[in-house]
Amino acid sequence: MNWLERLLFPPSCQLCGVPTTNDTLCAHCASDIHVIDTACPLCALPNDDGSVCASCSQQPPYWQSAHSCFVYDGNLAELIRHWKYRKQRVAQALLCNAMTAWLVETQFITTATAIVPVPLHRNKLRQRGFNTSYHLAQAASKALNLPVITQALTRKQHTQSQAGLSKIERHRNLLGAFDLNIAALKQHEHVLLIDDVYTTGATAQICTQLFQDKQVNVHLLTLARALPPNEVAQSLAITATKP
Ligand SMILES: [Zn+2]
Ligand SMILES: [Zn+2]
Repeated sequence: MNWLERLLFPPSCQLCGVPTTNDTLCAHCASDIHVIDTACPLCALPNDDGSVCASCSQQPPYWQSAHSCFVYDGNLAELIRHWKYRKQRVAQALLCNAMTAWLVETQFITTATAIVPVPLHRNKLRQRGFNTSYHLAQAASKALNLPVITQALTRKQHTQSQAGLSKIERHRNLLGAFDLNIAALKQHEHVLLIDDVYTTGATAQICTQLFQDKQVNVHLLTLARALPPNEVAQSLAITATKP
């Protein structure tokens, strides 16, 4: 932004528009964003002691661990929508920087030696112009000093939107939608799979299955974790803290 742009468009909160010192969020809007400090190590569902949740105890996911930086609700969800659907680059920078900060702050470490973003089908990529997971992977790469590999995991067919589908319907929709080229992984045996939002985990499970079939371990990292409807009220009250 040059001096003229700054004069004409002074910095303001990305969500409510009140004047700020830089193009981020005002204190009021930032206070609505919930950082995940402690969570189930297998599905990233926030809790107060970091224990494995009942659902993961009964049916553990395929991946080795799952982490998520923020609860997917309120202003964080709004920012993701600004990025994904309104293509706001300021929201992109804000969210990628937030992921980097979270990784540094939590001293995030896994056995992963490479980062793989969940891919978009090329038609969707052309339509949207960018893949949020790819940008988050770049942010994580900066924080963790790990390479990003985009050629290994690809999306084969254009799946219909996952919005509004049941868990079983999502799984069926995703089966066969991904392809893994193991040679492109260059012998990395532990990868950090990155996606923007963890909703039911169905997308990540499918991808993890493909990696596991080739004896590659997966750690999952998402920017935001949606809470199951019945957990929303209690989890937020108990565990998620404000920055
Ligand atoms: Zn604001
Ligand atoms: Zn869990």
